Amino acid sequence: MPGADRSAAPAPADLALPVAGNKLLTADDGAVLRVADLPADTDWVPLGTLDGVPAWATEPAGAQDLPGRWRGWASLAAEVPEPLATLASRALAVVTWRRTHRWCGACRAELADVPGESARRCPGCDLYVPLRLSAAVLVAITRPGPAGRPDELLLVRHSYGPTGLWALVAGFVEGGETLEAAARREVGEEVGLALDGLTYFGSQPWALSGPGVLLTGFTATAADPGAEPVVDGRELAEARWFPLDGLPAELPPAYSISRWLIDATVTAARR
Ligand SMILES: [Zn+2]
Repeated sequence: MPGADRSAAPAPADLALPVAGNKLLTADDGAVLRVADLPADTDWVPLGTLDGVPAWATEPAGAQDLPGRWRGWASLAAEVPEPLATLASRALAVVTWRRTHRWCGACRAELADVPGESARRCPGCDLYVPLRLSAAVLVAITRPGPAGRPDELLLVRHSYGPTGLWALVAGFVEGGETLEAAARREVGEEVGLALDGLTYFGSQPWALSGPGVLLTGFTATAADPGAEPVVDGRELAEARWFPLDGLPAELPPAYSISRWLIDATVTAARR
C-alpha cells in the first residue's frame, strides 16, 4: 500500500530498502533488511506498508561499507514474491525521483516535500511536482493457426538489450495518448499489423527499464490473419508467428507481465 506518512518514526522491525543508483541492498541471504539493520542516523523516506508493516527507503551514505548484498531489481524480482518485487520497484522509483527532482524546473528554487504525499512543491512559484510514472504498453497478438492447429502468437526479437529473448511488441505511451491508442500505434510502427479485439489484461510496476515505469498488458488478434509482420530492422531484429504449442524456450522471465500474458494466452487456448 503506497504511502508517504512521516508522522511516526521508523520502528526497528519496519522494512528497510536502501537504494544506491539502480541497486537495492538486501541481507546476504536475500532477505529484506529491517530498519534496525542500518545505522541509527539513517535518513528514511516513507514508502507505505506491506501487509501492514511500514516500509522505508534510504539512499545511505557510505553505501559500499554496509553489510549485505547490492543487487539489481531483476535479480530481486526473480527470487521474491510479487508484492515484495513491487515494493522494491517503488523504493527505486521514490529514491530516484527525489534525487532527480530537488529543484524547481520553472524558477530553480529548492522544492519542499508535500506532507503525506509523494510530491514536492516549489515555495517560489507554487509548482506542484508529483512522482510521475512512465506508462508503457505490451500486446500479446494472436491469429488462428492452420486448420486443425492451435492459434499462433506473435513474438519479436529486439536489436538491443536482451537480444536472445522472444518478447511481445511493447512501447511507451506518448503524452495525450490513451493506452489503447498507444498499443495500436506501437504494433503498427513495429510490425505493421492492425489489431482487432484489443482487451486490457493487467499491469505491473517495472523497475528494469528505469524507475517509475508502469507496464500495461493487452491481448488482441490480428485484424488480417494472413498478414505477416514487417520489422523496421532498427528497434526490432525479427518478428515471427509461433504456434501456441511450439513457443520458443527463450521467453521473458516468470516475474514479468510479458510472461503472464504469454502464459495466459496459452492457457486460454487450451480451454
Ligand atoms: Zn518554482
